[in-house]
Amino acid sequence: MLKVENLRKSFKDKEVLKGINLTIDKGDILAIIGPSGSGKSTLLRSLNKLEEKSSGNIYFHDKNIDDLNINKLREEIGMVFQQFNLFSNMNIMDNLLAAPLNTGKMNRENAEKKALELLEKIGLSDKKKSYPDELSGGQKQRVAIIRALMMEPELMLFDEPTSALDPEMVKDVLDLMKDLAEEGMTMAIVTHEMEFAKEVSNKIIIMDDGEIVEKSKNPKEFFNNPKEDRSKEFLSKVL
Ligand code: ATP
Ligand code: MG
Repeated sequence: MLKVENLRKSFKDKEVLKGINLTIDKGDILAIIGPSGSGKSTLLRSLNKLEEKSSGNIYFHDKNIDDLNINKLREEIGMVFQQFNLFSNMNIMDNLLAAPLNTGKMNRENAEKKALELLEKIGLSDKKKSYPDELSGGQKQRVAIIRALMMEPELMLFDEPTSALDPEMVKDVLDLMKDLAEEGMTMAIVTHEMEFAKEVSNKIIIMDDGEIVEKSKNPKEFFNNPKEDRSKEFLSKVL
């Protein structure tokens, strides 16, 4: 579905992605871990062109994303950030309707139906007229996730979706992501939740200093038996 070839990215003269190669297949749950500043967010943001790459190629369904319409690309690739980024001046329903109506993807009737289904799924139907400020962090993040799902993306990118949450809210968000994984959603997740990564992902990469230090198609095995010294060092700090 998505292929990254020798991706490089510099900010001024600092190279922060140093030749990343990566494949995401349909149904993959890719966990991306690694220390702060290693380039995880920059990598994720490059995939839907929130960040312009310096060189290398990214293919989405065998098409170079440089040749794709950027809005279309972002419809197909949803993204959820650490900070929920809901529209604070819109109620929850309007947050959910904004993208599908503005892009003309759905008419209002279908969009509202889908929004209600998704709100039901996360148990927040009663909040549809509330404003983001009236929701807890965990509720906001779950709304941010279903807002991305409104566009029926093929791939969902998550950048530390639980890092800004109080501990008691983390589980609800991870449970929702786990549900999505079980439903077959393709996802790439930057996370510090190692247990989640171990349990839910089917592929894992660990980054350090702009490089992929180690890749595994068996995350459980990776956590039990990391091969590279830099992986061992990172895991010894976070496990
Ligand atoms: P964290 O775990 O703290 O979120 P990260 O792995 O996501 O870290 P990135 O945010 O991708 O790391 O940053 C990688 C490097 O790029 C860092 O050195 C950072 O300072 C630098 N960087 C990121 N964004 C910019 C920017 N817009 N301008 C300049 N440098 C940047
Ligand atoms: Mg980051």
